Amino acid sequence: HVDALEVDDLVVSYRTARGRLTAVDGVSFAIAPGETLGLVGESGCGKSSLGKAIVQLVEPTSGSLAVEGHDLTALSARERRALRPRVQMVFQDPSGALDPRQRAGTILETPLKLNGVRDRAERRARVAALMEQVGLRPELTDRLPHEFSGGQRQRLGIARALALNPGVIVCDEPVSALDVSLQAQVLNLLRTVQRATRVAYLFISHDLSVVEHIADRVAIMYLGKLVELAPRETLWRNPAHPYTRALIDALPRMDPTTSRIADKTVISGDLPSPYTPPAGCRFHTRCPLAEPRCRTDAPAFVPVGIDHFAACHLTGATGTKAPALATHLP
Ligand code: SF4
Ligand code: MG
Repeated sequence: HVDALEVDDLVVSYRTARGRLTAVDGVSFAIAPGETLGLVGESGCGKSSLGKAIVQLVEPTSGSLAVEGHDLTALSARERRALRPRVQMVFQDPSGALDPRQRAGTILETPLKLNGVRDRAERRARVAALMEQVGLRPELTDRLPHEFSGGQRQRLGIARALALNPGVIVCDEPVSALDVSLQAQVLNLLRTVQRATRVAYLFISHDLSVVEHIADRVAIMYLGKLVELAPRETLWRNPAHPYTRALIDALPRMDPTTSRIADKTVISGDLPSPYTPPAGCRFHTRCPLAEPRCRTDAPAFVPVGIDHFAACHLTGATGTKAPALATHLP
C-alpha cells in the first residue's frame, strides 16, 4: 500500500530571539491508511512543531514528508498547496479554527465551496451528512460556535476537518480541554469516523493514558527525537526505553490493597532546555540507568523487536527489555 503519511529524517528548526531551536531533530515514521499513530511527549518536546510541519503550517528545514506518496519537499509551492486539503488538523481548542461569526453550516460549507463543489444543493447535502456523521443535530447548523458546548464544538471541529475527505488528520491534544466523560465520547467518535473513512490519524498528546485508548502504534518523543516506536500493546507490556517506562510508571493507578489511587511515580529532574539539549543520549540527565557512554554517544534508533524501535544503549544491541527503574516514591 501507499502510506497515508511518511516522515523521513525530518528536521524543523527555527531562528528565535534566544538562538536556534531545533524542535524536531531527525524524526522518521510512517502511518498507513486507517491507522492511528499516537505521538506522546512532554510539553516542549517538539510534537506540535512536527504536527505543524505535517499540515504545512511550518516548513521543514530538511528531510522529507510524503502525503499519500507525494513528497512535499520535492514539489513546487503550487503542488504543495494542491495537496493541503489531504491533511487536516483538529486542535485542542477548536475555537481557533472556527470563525466565531460564521454559523456551523457556513463553517462546513466554506471548504467545499473553496474546493470546487459548485452545486449549492450538493454542498448542503454534504453539510447535513457531516453534521450527522459527528453526532450534531440538524438544527445546530444555524448556530454560532459560541452557542455550542465544548464537546459539540470539538465535534464541529472534527466535521470541519472531515469536510474534504482527507487522508490524514493531525489531532493535536483534541480531548485535553474536555472533561473525562466527554473525552471518551470524542475518542469514540474519532474511532467511528476512522472505521467509516479509513482516514489516518497522528494523535498528539502529552498523556499516554489518552493515547492508549485510540492508538494502534505509539511513538515517544523526547527533546526533538523519537526514543521509542512500537505497537500499543508492545509498548505497554514491554517498553524498551527508560523514558517510556518512566512515563508508564508515572500514570496514576489503583493500589489493589487499599483501592486507592497510588502515589504517582515522578521522573526525576527537570526537562532540559530544548535550546541546549544534553550531549550523547538526551535523556541521560534524568535516566537512572545512565552509563558513562550515555553522556557522549547518542544511541541510534534501531529495531529491538517486531515493529519495535528504540534509542537506548542498553536495549539497542541486544533487543532486551529495559530493566525496571527504581524511581518509585515510597
Ligand atoms: Fe538511559 Fe543511557 Fe539508555 Fe539514554 S542510552 S536512556 S541515558 S541508559
Ligand atoms: Mg503542544
